Amino acid sequence: MDGSQLDFAQIRAQFPILQQTENGQPLVYLDGGATSQKPLQVIEALDRYYREQNANVHRGVYGLSERATELYEGARETSRQFLNAKSIKEIVFVRGTTEAVNLVAHSWGLANLKAGDEVIVTEMEHHSNIVPWQLLRDQLGIRLNVLRMNDRGEICLNALKSQMSEKTKLLAVTHMSNALGTINPVKEMTEIAHSFGAKVLVDGAQATPHMTVDVQDIGCDFYALSGHKMYGPTGIGVLYGKEELLDVMPPYQGGGDMIYSVTFEKTEYNVLPYKFEAGTPHISGAIGLAEAMKFMQSIGLDRIAAYEASLLKYATEQLKTIEGLRVIGEAEHKGGVISFIIEGVHPHDMATLMDQDGIAVRASHHCAMPVMQHFNVPATIRASLGVYNNKSDIDRLVASILEAKEMLL
Ligand SMILES: *Cc1c(COP(=O)(O)O)cnc(C)c1O
Repeated sequence: MDGSQLDFAQIRAQFPILQQTENGQPLVYLDGGATSQKPLQVIEALDRYYREQNANVHRGVYGLSERATELYEGARETSRQFLNAKSIKEIVFVRGTTEAVNLVAHSWGLANLKAGDEVIVTEMEHHSNIVPWQLLRDQLGIRLNVLRMNDRGEICLNALKSQMSEKTKLLAVTHMSNALGTINPVKEMTEIAHSFGAKVLVDGAQATPHMTVDVQDIGCDFYALSGHKMYGPTGIGVLYGKEELLDVMPPYQGGGDMIYSVTFEKTEYNVLPYKFEAGTPHISGAIGLAEAMKFMQSIGLDRIAAYEASLLKYATEQLKTIEGLRVIGEAEHKGGVISFIIEGVHPHDMATLMDQDGIAVRASHHCAMPVMQHFNVPATIRASLGVYNNKSDIDRLVASILEAKEMLL
């Protein structure tokens, strides 16, 4: 074993759930695309918060509340650094990517779009980045235009250029596809969209666990992430938005914390980012998310990307030795997600048998039904990788598939 592999063995040991057995077998968890497992550092931060630090934020004058506020706002600064946003005013805590997209649709969309305007989404979007725009289409009479992908699961920049027009007001695109693993050239896509005067929203739910993300470098207007996909807790995420846009957007929800003053005649809204954080926030979630970001940064996002790339290469090579197995999604730029089908076998039957071997993979449409329609399959089996996976997980995956195939064919 070389040095880097040794380090990753230590990293794996920090995930208590992976010490568990499942159906009598050591758990092989290959479903980080649905939700990642959590390292001790995150679990302990949550435990410490509720044991020693819990109080509501922003209001108390007593020490405990001030400390909880410091931790919560510290998490915002950690998130700013993680995404390289210019200001903490650009970091809005939300429940996750889904809520972030809905916030943009409701607040920015309702205020800025009118009948005849157009939103472009790609064919590989998660339902979270399709349905909010359909709701808006039905409400406002805007057009929803779909940017198709090729059979490798890639977006062509020229196709984007020819589909854009002065009617296009927003491009909503995933940074990395959860169903295919494709990493989209979001920086180049943003440049193209901006040259037509459109705004850009990037769904970063899958990208943030796997690579360095710099929102200033990408240049996008909005960027969404989910804590639970990146080693953090569920129920917390971030919407990044450019300050000048957030500043003029109307509030998304009304309530406590988002106001400056309230009378029955008139309410003055709080400053950014609090204008978008109505009610008591998910304080422990934000603290846990910040801890997850620190966990990833302590390993190094580039090292994570390199490690997972080598694991993906190994997994792809090994899986392709299986007769009748077809990989769905073979983009040149791909992250640690591998979707496949096996001729003559239903993905659900396969995954159910694999569970008997302690292997957690997902068999579904992955909340991306249009992707399934493109490839003309009802579902795929998806193995998605994280920092805690290793070659032995892949070897057990392959062995389990071979065994299940014997039984099913
Ligand atoms: C998981 C996921 C979402 C939705 O995230 P939630 O945390 O469920 O809100 C959106 N887009 C992609 C690409 C995802 O993988």
